[in-house]
Amino acid sequence: MSKYTSETIIRTVRENHIQFVRLQFTDIFGQLKSVTLPASQIEKAVNGQIMFDGSSIEGYTRIEESDQYLRPDLDTFAVLPWNQEYGVCARMICDVCNPDGTAFSGDPRGVLHKVLKKAADMGYTFNVGPECEFFLFKTDADGKPTTKTNDEVGYFDQGPLDSAEFTRRQICLALEKIGFEIEASHHECAAGQHEIDFKYADALTAADNIMTFKLAVKTLARKDGLHATFMPKPIFGVAGNGMHINMSLFRDGKNAFYDENGTHQLSPIAYQFIAGVLEHIPAICALSNPLVNSYKRLVPGYEAPCYISWSTGNRSALIRVPAPRGTSTRLELRNPDPSCNPYLALAACLAAGLDGIERGLTPPEEATENIYELTNEQRIARGIGSLPSSLREALDALRADPLVCGVLGEHALSQYLAGKEEEWKSYCTRVSSWEVERYITLY
Ligand code: GLU
Ligand code: MG
Repeated sequence: MSKYTSETIIRTVRENHIQFVRLQFTDIFGQLKSVTLPASQIEKAVNGQIMFDGSSIEGYTRIEESDQYLRPDLDTFAVLPWNQEYGVCARMICDVCNPDGTAFSGDPRGVLHKVLKKAADMGYTFNVGPECEFFLFKTDADGKPTTKTNDEVGYFDQGPLDSAEFTRRQICLALEKIGFEIEASHHECAAGQHEIDFKYADALTAADNIMTFKLAVKTLARKDGLHATFMPKPIFGVAGNGMHINMSLFRDGKNAFYDENGTHQLSPIAYQFIAGVLEHIPAICALSNPLVNSYKRLVPGYEAPCYISWSTGNRSALIRVPAPRGTSTRLELRNPDPSCNPYLALAACLAAGLDGIERGLTPPEEATENIYELTNEQRIARGIGSLPSSLREALDALRADPLVCGVLGEHALSQYLAGKEEEWKSYCTRVSSWEVERYITLY
């Protein structure tokens, strides 16, 4: 049931002297965009009458068909708790529509809606709990980001050694004000690296929450003179930023991955879902690990996965089944990073899992040992494949996977591939500092 109606929102805006309303949506490459309206426009806004120029948004439309409408999801209404000294601003997250009212096929939120509908038709609700990691860097005299970390400590260290402890608290408090249930926050492994975990939700809400979370972290870090980044591997030689996603399917109010009598108390559905994700993971990577830089994180030695495997305990596996069972039974997919467009990444993971269920797939044997310690020959003999080692390989895997291509649909797929091919080409033709250091005196 919906929390809000148009009338309750109009009333709330008027009675609480809210001065601005921000309509948010996400471009295909995961950037949060918005149109800000004075509160006088709230009726038009809730009725989906606000138009914008879609041709100016990455991956949206061509100039000849540029008029698009923002249809707010009323349940995402929230008063933004920061910068209120510049006017109290509420936001709503929107679906993007064509002038005739139909869903726009290039809207990432719409892409997720479609796969969720398929899951619902099969009787499932998809729940997701993300674990977002980020770095806090110092800024220079011009306020530009540096790669100097804000502290020199590691896993679970606390203040005063962890000098961003209070920034993290401010972020948690702000998110609680807009309805997040924060479960934990801590200093992560690398100097200047942090994690804040919030409660799982249905996948659409989880994707919306990831977008809101990133905005909150960046906004509140800046207030403390810091630059927050979700870039997957900002510093060579230390841990990168992951966004592990904990996934579960519910059916008739019960966790469909749990079976008291199954091996490891997992149901056949859980095994089929694992098998589906493992089969499609190379293509999923193009969405869940979308940057050139994403693949510098997926290397041995930093708790990020490199091989296609699953396990009930072992953190070196790509899919881990954490200990809790019953309602909390879930699969933790460890390759995604927080630079991804969460709508597209979650849509692809769900579609892959459902494919495993529909085809009754069986996963390979569980990897019980530390996979990094196996030799290449041992891994090949065990049938453990490797994740794509570059954006190039991931894009090729995406093109070769009709199921994941179908999730995006023709329009979003062609726009996505065009943008990513350009990114890859631009990267390949640059001369990096590593190349200069390595070659300039030798040759
Ligand atoms: N930072 C690690 C990664 O890149 C994950 C650390 C952890 O297990 O929380 O995925
Ligand atoms: Mg972590």
